[in-house]
Amino acid sequence: NNEALTNFIQNIISEDLKKGKNGGRVHTRFPPEPNGYLHIGHAKSICLNFGLAANNGGICNLRFDDTNPIKEELEYVDSIKEDVRWLGFDWEERMYYASDYFDKLYESAVQLIEKGCAYVCDLSPQEIRQYRGTLTEPGQESPYRNRSVEENLDLFTRMRAGEFADGTRVLRAKIDMASPNLNMRDPVIYRILRAYHHRTGDKWCIYPMYDFAHPLSDALESITHSVCTLEFADHRPLYDWFLDNVDYNADKNGRPQQIEFARLNLSYTVMSKRKLRELVENNYVNGWDDPRMPTISGLRRRGYTPESIRDFCNRIGVAKRDSVVDIALLEHCVREDLNLDATRVMAVLRPLKVIIDNYPADQVEWLETENNPENPAMGKRLIPFSRELYIEQEDFMEDPPKKFFRLRPGGEIRLKSAYIIKCEEVIKNAQGDIIELHCSYDPDSKSGGATSGRKVKGTSHWVSAAHAISAEVRLYEHLFLTENPDDEEDGNDFKTKLNPNSLQVLTNCQVEPGLAEALARNRYQFLRQGYFCLDVDSRPDRLVFNRIVSLRDSWAK
Ligand code: ATP
Ligand code: MG
Ligand code: MG
Repeated sequence: NNEALTNFIQNIISEDLKKGKNGGRVHTRFPPEPNGYLHIGHAKSICLNFGLAANNGGICNLRFDDTNPIKEELEYVDSIKEDVRWLGFDWEERMYYASDYFDKLYESAVQLIEKGCAYVCDLSPQEIRQYRGTLTEPGQESPYRNRSVEENLDLFTRMRAGEFADGTRVLRAKIDMASPNLNMRDPVIYRILRAYHHRTGDKWCIYPMYDFAHPLSDALESITHSVCTLEFADHRPLYDWFLDNVDYNADKNGRPQQIEFARLNLSYTVMSKRKLRELVENNYVNGWDDPRMPTISGLRRRGYTPESIRDFCNRIGVAKRDSVVDIALLEHCVREDLNLDATRVMAVLRPLKVIIDNYPADQVEWLETENNPENPAMGKRLIPFSRELYIEQEDFMEDPPKKFFRLRPGGEIRLKSAYIIKCEEVIKNAQGDIIELHCSYDPDSKSGGATSGRKVKGTSHWVSAAHAISAEVRLYEHLFLTENPDDEEDGNDFKTKLNPNSLQVLTNCQVEPGLAEALARNRYQFLRQGYFCLDVDSRPDRLVFNRIVSLRDSWAK
């Protein structure tokens, strides 16, 4: 999967390679924070980072950015590894944790103190915020800014030793309180926090901040191109300041360069881990892998293929401006991917019994049908036809409007790969609900037969009642009712925009018998209904299918 990449980051890399920068190496990284499951936005970053490396003879690290012990867990680390692999990317032996660098980061902080570039500050978090100033107002220097190197070294050592309470002191970079860039106004680089870390346990009671850990982790891993999303553009001067002021062996390792691109936003969904976690924790959805979630595990469970997600990421490209991508494009990509591979089968989602009175009661015919008319190489199979069948409830109307070309009293319809039938009688129960249809069939109309030429307007899918197996089918709609649920300008929380009909469970579907052997990895097209796959809840005696996507393509090319 090495489609040539063309984007502005590739152009930067091509220029760098021409100049022989960093010895002509390309080394990227994908740096997730293990505080949630990956979503389709992360897939974009994964495709980009691994893709840029592959495209340029380089390598890409997987790095867990685990510097915040409070929200991080092993479960997330495991899920991230699974998801990256499933997407089709391989970090080989290059898996790292920012927490592996805690000792080195500590040494770098000491180095900054020794150079007079960092100081221990006793202001409260609130005071630090006040002193920082605003975009229009310069900041104010901390009264602790001019502590001596000796005092700072002593205090920082004691911070690490656990002598001070959480939040009472921080280590700050000494940069410029008058900088027009707020990130440069003496940012905090270490805080005191007594929290158990999923890898380092209780070894540390001080933890480095992201802005300090990230450039140094990049440098320690000899990263050349550090790709991140646009909201970090304002942090780039700080990224560079740390590289300028910490001695990290640049001669040997080269110097990483931060490059920002626009994050992916998708219509009808939210894409921040915080919001996705909220949906999971408050049971708005059934877990991170709920098939309605934009998480990679949700898309996988829903039935999306890794190929379709990679194709999507390639098509949306890499931009320097934020925008919202139409979710219809993602759906289009999976339809295109499945079209040639998915076996066409018959599944009746809302069954209506049909009895063919002139068909012998004990007869079963095995009729031939194509597995995929778009791909004849997939061959044919046999399906059973008998006197009692099911068709789709919506394929019959007692009193239809003009352009209804399906079955009506006295009307005819072709049963796919079988015969033309005619509705002779409608049977209702005491409440007036239609419970079955009595029909006749035309023996000369058999599909593919010598006399099959007779045409009727509609064709329906069907299953033989005696042979069909019942199944549960789950139909999904967008998780949110509005295109931009993140947009809370109307004062309404994103959760108020959840679509109450995003999941519809049909428990009495009738599917053709061959699906008893359905495989978890296979995807099927249920004729006229969409693409489906088995859900993980499926059992041999209780099949459960997810609709991956319907057949209606609303992607406007
Ligand atoms: P979130 O805001 O959803 O929590 P994050 O940026 O905090 O996302 P990280 O785990 O830090 O999540 O992200 C790992 C990498 O994936 C980062 O390099 C980040 O820039 C990238 N990334 C995250 N979200 C998106 C997105 N929507 N589109 C593209 N890249 C993304
Ligand atoms: Mg992040
Ligand atoms: Mg985050």
